Amino acid sequence: MAKITFNIGGVHPDDSKIAKDRPIEVLPLPQTVWVSMAQHLGAPAKPVVAVGDKVLAGQVIAEPGGFISAFVHSPVSGTVKSIAPRKDLAGNNMTHIEIAVEGDEWVEGVDLSDTLVTAIPEDRQAILDKIKACGVVGLGGATFPTHVKLNPAPGSVAECLIINGAECEPFLTSDYRIMLEKTKEIIVGAAIMQKVLGGCRCVIAIEDNKPEAISAMRKALGELGYSNMEVLPLMKKYPQGGEKQLIDAVMHRQVGSGALPISVGAVVQNMATALAVYEAVQKNKPLVTNTLTVTGDCLPVEKQHNYLFRIGMPLSYIAEYAGGVPGDAAKIVSGGPMMGKAIANLDACTVKGSSSLLYLSEAMTKRGEQSACIRCGKCAQACPMGLEPFLLYRLYKAGNTDELEKNAVHDCIECGCCLYSCPANIPLLDYIRQAKGQVLGIIRARAAAAKAAAEAAKTNEKK
Ligand code: SF4
Ligand code: SF4
Repeated sequence: MAKITFNIGGVHPDDSKIAKDRPIEVLPLPQTVWVSMAQHLGAPAKPVVAVGDKVLAGQVIAEPGGFISAFVHSPVSGTVKSIAPRKDLAGNNMTHIEIAVEGDEWVEGVDLSDTLVTAIPEDRQAILDKIKACGVVGLGGATFPTHVKLNPAPGSVAECLIINGAECEPFLTSDYRIMLEKTKEIIVGAAIMQKVLGGCRCVIAIEDNKPEAISAMRKALGELGYSNMEVLPLMKKYPQGGEKQLIDAVMHRQVGSGALPISVGAVVQNMATALAVYEAVQKNKPLVTNTLTVTGDCLPVEKQHNYLFRIGMPLSYIAEYAGGVPGDAAKIVSGGPMMGKAIANLDACTVKGSSSLLYLSEAMTKRGEQSACIRCGKCAQACPMGLEPFLLYRLYKAGNTDELEKNAVHDCIECGCCLYSCPANIPLLDYIRQAKGQVLGIIRARAAAAKAAAEAAKTNEKK
């Protein structure tokens, strides 16, 4: 059993990887897809097609809306039927491009074969340009544009690229399946990113509840023969896949409050992102596919699946294809049971970062009756960010945003470990999430006011 893990807090929920032995199946195309313009962190993309246009799979249909943004490509060939607001997973209105599916004809130059391409291009900037042009974003949850993350600001030096294979959320198995089924492609993708970052050390970190993935990665790495790259088994502990926790486990370095991983020489990329980078750089394939798990405690084993989906597929279509929503599903979640978000609307469509359709029963979701805090301190012991959730909860109740900021509520990664540990069933995460939103709003407003004051001072100086 691996002993390496992060130092502060964490919990050990049952991993419930029920779908782990289900190979990835390719979902057939639906009749219509709706492609969201907000598939990434940052500014929404801007459509560059018009209603009535014919598009091919892999064709650019929207361009970045800012520096932190990403290209969006058509996942199918067909005709643009509308460009209009539609409800996303959270129930918010977002512009979607509706495409009537007429086939699966791809733009020229995309290599859809299974042939492994190992020769890595020499030109660093050309690699970054290709990753950007293919719309690659981080697929571990944050969907931060990958070409930006792989290009640290001048003065920052990447010492270690960590490929995140923790997949520490219960139930989810899509990363596990690609580790088994796209092993060498992921390693080549990691080597491409390692090259872009200047040839730093690369660690493929995998929790030890996935021994087959660890063996497969080690074998493939030996066969490919890349240097300065290793597979590191980690002890199973939630939330090991959090960036700061993974950096602590692998590099024994702590990322400060509000700081980025690069401040301690780290860059973290997810397994699926490494695969997307491989496909972009070596196969010229834009990011229009990803893998998700259909799973849950109230879904029979034979209805659990890992699917290769196209972006823009309605979740209702996937649910129906997988055998329908179980009658005893009390909650449907996108993501894992700890950090995932409840799906407000099954007509919402998949996005680049979709990772699951998770059905949870009432037994899994029902909270016990809430009682008063008994000051047991279990929430603080469990918090991987070293926060004091019981204190944050009380400060929120008192409306004390000054003290909430002093106690770093904005560092909360919303992992839910406090909620999971609390014997009094206090909905700590709900309160802390609200408090974090308030404090982040105050911090942003303060920064904007300071910027405006500095600009005004500069203008006055010129006069
Ligand atoms: S949700 Fe926030 S406060 Fe609670 S354990 Fe996680 S990081 Fe700590
Ligand atoms: S775990 Fe719950 S009961 Fe214990 S100190 Fe934290 S909030 Fe109070």
